[in-house]
Amino acid sequence: MLIIHDAAHIVIDATTERSADDAARLVVGPTMAAPDAPSPDASGPYGLVDSAGATGPVEHLDASGCVVTPGLVNAHHHLLQSAFRTLPGTRGVPMHVWLPTMAAAYAEIGIDPELARASALVGVAEGLLAGVTTVADHHLTWPAGSDTVGIARATADAARELGGRLAFVRGSARDDPEEAAASADAIAEALVPDARGGVSADGMFQLAVGPAGVHSDSEATFRLLGEVAARRGLRRRTQANEQVDVAIALEKYGKRPIALLEEWGWLAPDVTLAHLCAVTDEEIALLASRGVTATHAPGCDLPMGWGIAPVAALRAAGIPVGLGTSGGGSNDAGHLLADARLAMQVAPLAGPPIDARSILSMASEGSAIGLGRPELGHLRPGAAADLCVWDVSGVADAGVADPVAGLLWASPGRRPRHVVVGGRVVVRDYELVAHDQRALASDLTTLLATRRA
Ligand SMILES: [Zn+2]
Repeated sequence: MLIIHDAAHIVIDATTERSADDAARLVVGPTMAAPDAPSPDASGPYGLVDSAGATGPVEHLDASGCVVTPGLVNAHHHLLQSAFRTLPGTRGVPMHVWLPTMAAAYAEIGIDPELARASALVGVAEGLLAGVTTVADHHLTWPAGSDTVGIARATADAARELGGRLAFVRGSARDDPEEAAASADAIAEALVPDARGGVSADGMFQLAVGPAGVHSDSEATFRLLGEVAARRGLRRRTQANEQVDVAIALEKYGKRPIALLEEWGWLAPDVTLAHLCAVTDEEIALLASRGVTATHAPGCDLPMGWGIAPVAALRAAGIPVGLGTSGGGSNDAGHLLADARLAMQVAPLAGPPIDARSILSMASEGSAIGLGRPELGHLRPGAAADLCVWDVSGVADAGVADPVAGLLWASPGRRPRHVVVGGRVVVRDYELVAHDQRALASDLTTLLATRRA
């Protein structure tokens, strides 16, 4: 049993909070999964419980001077790009220049399970140290003849070693459609053979499928990956309406990406669309009527100049919106809270302002809804006990009247003091429990230097 005690404030979800006056503590213990969890024990052996029934040895986590929030869920990352940050020629360029520059860098280094492991260790560790307890890794780079099951397994093992949850998305970017589908099926068979909804029994690993977008993948790829998803109960994810996506769709098919996705059967409740820059009112209404979910990635789209999703309009239409960082090739940090701050700051340029609580909820429960994970992204009873303890006792938070607004508005680049995933402490006093972050960084640096030599 783990007791998080003496918190100054606890954010349970978008509408429920507790302050120091009303027993600001949380108890984590053996639990039954939430009744609507995707598999009977998806929340793992531990979750948030009523303190009355909790028994067994007790571990304490001091949260005095701290705000506790649900663990953040990064709904869109490309972990491999953690090895390819700030590359010359990748900043301030249009997407049609950026894509081949990144592809050349991947080819120079060589993408294989060893690099996937080193990048994922760095990317997942960086996320955990910033409060990201679940990350969706949209892996798009599968060189011909590569060991695709090995790449997926190496990424999954890296996350598991660190204690972070991973949703691995078997992506495609101009892959042969049949090969992409066969690979997705092989990965499912190897990693989650019997898992309903593609989620492992302990809830730590999830498999999904996702072409990069209509600009890169054909109707056949969408159809065949969709068939694997339907057969195996996997979620579907893709990217839509980033800069080149609309232009290429118009040029190639005479239609906009959303219209193509509708034709290809990819507007449905099991689909999450990342980016969604410059969607029209009619497109927003269509997305809402089809029950899709969305992911906002301002930390990538804004600095690259690729657009801003009209988040307030998407939410007003009833579309659940999550938050993602996208990858290191376009957003050099996997710091989701920093991007939550950016989302809040940029919102008035793309519609009405959005308040801090709503943005925080997008970065946790909003993202979890898109992954089909009702046990994640909140701290209600039965939740999987993924949480962050943020110290707000320093000068950067002095004078803050609203502790939740302050989490986002004050102290840019804030990191959590402690992070708990599934009831296990994985970051304690700002350091990883399972690995030395400096060793992970130097392993990746050495690997890259060896391959460039
Ligand atoms: Zn992306």
